[in-house]
Amino acid sequence: MKKIKECPVCHSVKFTNYLSTQDYFLSKEPFTLSQCEHCGLVFTNPRPEDVDLASYYNSPNYLSHHAAGFSVLRWIYQFLRKRNIRWKYRLLHSFIPKGKILDVGCGTGEVLNFFKHKGWEVRGIEPNEKARLFATEVYDIPVADEPGLLNLPAESFDVISLWHVLEHVPDLNRRMTDLKKLLKPNGLLLIALPNLASMDAKYYGKYWAALDVPRHLYHFSPDSFLELAIRHGYKLMNKIPMKLDAYYISLLSERYRRRCCTYLRAFIVGYHSNRNARRDLQYSSMIYILKK
Ligand SMILES: [Zn+2]
Repeated sequence: MKKIKECPVCHSVKFTNYLSTQDYFLSKEPFTLSQCEHCGLVFTNPRPEDVDLASYYNSPNYLSHHAAGFSVLRWIYQFLRKRNIRWKYRLLHSFIPKGKILDVGCGTGEVLNFFKHKGWEVRGIEPNEKARLFATEVYDIPVADEPGLLNLPAESFDVISLWHVLEHVPDLNRRMTDLKKLLKPNGLLLIALPNLASMDAKYYGKYWAALDVPRHLYHFSPDSFLELAIRHGYKLMNKIPMKLDAYYISLLSERYRRRCCTYLRAFIVGYHSNRNARRDLQYSSMIYILKK
């Protein structure tokens, strides 16, 4: 295990204990979260050594949003994923009609394949070898492993997207710097993240499924994420809610909490989380559109 000695965002060395939880998805190991006293970032601490992190993804059921076991949940996941792909396309299309996109953590490449059919030039980065080969062979999309990020030409992308990916990346600052180099001037960086300041996060506490320790190394709120983005010289263009995530994350959280009436409870919490967020804008997951 690796103890974090300084805050990855503001470099302060003063932390408080935030929460004790466990890896409900896979290993069942306990983990604790620390909060930086200066900038408020919450992070998994201690966390597995970088070389050991891959073993926490060793499940045949680990999709990028962990629809484990349970066939109804997997069905919901697949249904929402198809709807989400069209929604993601429309969202980006509203900022840039057509161009060159890099999806980091592209998985099996479904999103990129949709963009490709709409005339975009697409590339992907994906650490999981099986997913990478699937995207390459089935969709004929150029997808490289993570070190391949450094071989891409500078200032070559109109858009770089990370859909629920940045919270998994060990070297946060290095990644933010590398992505900035790859963006064209005025290019857009799209980052989707769970929101620790959402109502469902507060309600579920240690059972909140989007903590997903130790795979999630950072647990951002809009404030702590924007602190990071601004330090790297990005400008915030827009913040967009992902309202369906409130229901999906609540459903997984209810399963971890093991109480009765899972679906009903998840629906009620998801609904209240979204309704609450109409006032305070703290949706369960948020998309940040940043400009270089
Ligand atoms: Zn800090």
